[in-house]
Amino acid sequence: MPAPSSRISSISPSGKDDWEVHFAAYKRKAAGEAILMLSVGDHDFPTPSETVEACVKALHEGYHHYTQLPGLPRLREAMARISTISTGVETAASEILATGGGQGALFAAAQGVLDPGGHAIVAAPYYATYPGTFRSAGATFTVLEASAEDGFEPSAEALEAAVRPNTKAVLINSPNNPTGAVYSRETLEGIAEVCRRHDLWLLSDEVYWTHCSSDGGRKHISPRGLPGMKERTLVINSLSKSHGMTGWRIGWLTGPNDFIRTLINLNLVSTYGLNDFVSHAAIAALENDYGVKEIAAIYGARRAAFLAEMRGLNEVVVRGSEGGMYVMLDIRAVDPDCERFAWRFLDAEKVAVMPGASFGEAAAGHIRVSLCQPEDKLREAAARLRRFIATYPAETNA
Ligand code: PMP
Repeated sequence: MPAPSSRISSISPSGKDDWEVHFAAYKRKAAGEAILMLSVGDHDFPTPSETVEACVKALHEGYHHYTQLPGLPRLREAMARISTISTGVETAASEILATGGGQGALFAAAQGVLDPGGHAIVAAPYYATYPGTFRSAGATFTVLEASAEDGFEPSAEALEAAVRPNTKAVLINSPNNPTGAVYSRETLEGIAEVCRRHDLWLLSDEVYWTHCSSDGGRKHISPRGLPGMKERTLVINSLSKSHGMTGWRIGWLTGPNDFIRTLINLNLVSTYGLNDFVSHAAIAALENDYGVKEIAAIYGARRAAFLAEMRGLNEVVVRGSEGGMYVMLDIRAVDPDCERFAWRFLDAEKVAVMPGASFGEAAAGHIRVSLCQPEDKLREAAARLRRFIATYPAETNA
């Protein structure tokens, strides 16, 4: 067979598989072992029934056809309404590009701002698809490590130092996957300042914007709402997390009018528009906020329940963990090698978690615990973690 293009081959260069623990656990579970899976981030409950019904109705009503390339007009209106709320900036439908999930929006943003050979800066720890998304645009990137001690919030000074003459964009994610960090206004203002000074795009992944603590914790702030940022910020959003619709593959990008207009051509040559009946279900979900409060409350309660179990566990330091669907535990006092820790935890206690090192250097020495299980299972996992740490083989202690 002739060789595939280097652009495609470079998306996922062969090497170490960061998901080994997860896949091994998954295999063992499929073979019948009672493994508690806290390694992935998909909801353990179905899409709200109102949304499902809206989809069935749309199918019966004959919504089986092509849709407009940037999204159905009413869908763009509904997404613009959410962007107005989530970013604090009045948003028009013309500033919205409907995409296949948040990943489609990330892809569109990277393709839209980076030429081959261009350079981006990505804040780490980061979501696993980010590097490949930049590579698919033929771009290079620098990883900006946000340290555990800073609560996994990137510093403006480090960002400034990473800027090169060919840098075009910065990618951040708050609330963050994997750390659960919710960036402060001060952090965002520092990042925004660097972007303005060097005339950079800011790609802001806000797919977890509804998953913040409801009681006194950090609130989501979008950098799009900061002075001079509306014209250089591209916000990635999705119905996957907020509306419980991971498998429906629907999301959107919010950005300046002219930029979005140009980007519509990407939909022309990739999706040729989203699915008709899925778009109608999404309109219903967005206009009526189906499931949004309930889902956010579920994760809020789970986070609180799990973190309460961590209190008094001196060997473990909770970092970030203020929003999103994960908590991040610093286990360096038990074992500096988080991969070894995760493998042993799986073997001894049958609980699958992700080693932090899978998400970049900054998260090494941590484990990421997914909150995609009911509270009783999370409490059980916490009890097993306590027991496991109490008997951790002494020779590996740091
Ligand atoms: N960004 C982040 C930070 C994510 O965690 C995810 C999914 N896990 C996505 C984007 C993509 O979400 P989707 O394509 O399902 O909307």
